[in-house]
Amino acid sequence: MRDLPINADRLAASLDELGTIGRDHRDGSINRICVTPVERQAHDMMATWMTAVGLRVTRDAFGNTIGTRPGRGAGGSIAIGSHLDSVPRGGNYDGAAGVVGALEVVRALDDADVRTEHDLTLVCFSAEEGARFGKPCLGSKAAVEGLGDDELALSDRDGVSLRDALAAVGMRPLETTRPAPWTRDVAAFLELHIEQGRVLQEAGEDVGVVDCIAGNRRLRMRLRGQTDHSGATPMRLRRDALVAAAEVVVAVHRLVRRAEDLVGTVGELTVHPGAMTAVPGRVDLGVDVRGTDARVQERTIQQVIEAARAACRDHDVELEVDDVSDVPPVELSPWLRDVVAGAARRVTGRARVLTSGAGHDAGVTARRIPTSVIFIPCRDGVSHSPAEWAAPEHLATGTQVLAQAVLDVDAQATTAAAVRSREQS
Ligand SMILES: [Zn+2]
Repeated sequence: MRDLPINADRLAASLDELGTIGRDHRDGSINRICVTPVERQAHDMMATWMTAVGLRVTRDAFGNTIGTRPGRGAGGSIAIGSHLDSVPRGGNYDGAAGVVGALEVVRALDDADVRTEHDLTLVCFSAEEGARFGKPCLGSKAAVEGLGDDELALSDRDGVSLRDALAAVGMRPLETTRPAPWTRDVAAFLELHIEQGRVLQEAGEDVGVVDCIAGNRRLRMRLRGQTDHSGATPMRLRRDALVAAAEVVVAVHRLVRRAEDLVGTVGELTVHPGAMTAVPGRVDLGVDVRGTDARVQERTIQQVIEAARAACRDHDVELEVDDVSDVPPVELSPWLRDVVAGAARRVTGRARVLTSGAGHDAGVTARRIPTSVIFIPCRDGVSHSPAEWAAPEHLATGTQVLAQAVLDVDAQATTAAAVRSREQS
């Protein structure tokens, strides 16, 4: 069969139009914070477009928008899509590129008059970004596994709980504790997304296939020494929390660099009282370590804690450590990865396989559904910023690979059950 006729101009135009929702004209940033009326406007725009191309559009209890294009009747459906929410002052590509790319696949199938064997399900997830409630991928978690009461009780900085926020935008929080019925028959989920890193750009690749989504371990540390006058306190009497904290920062960097495929950051450091003339009595800091090997990730975080204890002992500083997050890396479906790599080779002649340092809805769906992620480069790896940008030709190429992968999965998978048994063999 010939390639599906992906229309790069139509794709770019839809992305631009979607980008009018939540745009702040002062800096061009996108502000579609999850579970707000603004995010709902984006879902409504997508629902209108999906209805216009003949999809059967529904909304699950959390507010994920789903459109179905019926197939010839093979069991199971192939789901494609991404998320519609953004971080505060975000860009127009993170999430949106994958949603609009999925819509373009449907339009191209219509243009080519192709009917798939399986149902095709276009998914617009809500609440992928953790910026508001502190936890990412709440929409996809609700859909595929159901939320816990602890998750519904999460609150934003104004004290509004997720449960109340969902009700306020017309959703049904009580039903989000059970998986959404639409996920039951999904045989495969394919997500197109910008890389949010520089690997593809530096390698000169147009597209990449993700084999693993990195996990993360996050700690919050409180170092308590003693605040003293910076002039009147002799050096030997000091309990300087910032000096100990500085050793922790360096230890994170050193330990992470020693391990393979690991990144680590201290991106948060609050110094009390924060005066030039005071010995810092307290420092709060946040450690973020991410890797693709769960054992290496855990071993390194334990080494970080040991190094912090040693530094605090040396400076007579007390240390408190809180676990903030413990997300294991997720290996994506090897079978789907190979199918998508085949599609990438057909479209571009190559198939670069890489890991994802950032988390995605795909990392959640992969726990229940064979899942794959297609990356396109974004300029200088910049994301979560109004400067986020991907070349229209890369977006079109990624969408072409997504379209080809849909056809290939459709040809290879007979039913959801067959895919899942293939995964297990
Ligand atoms: Zn995203």
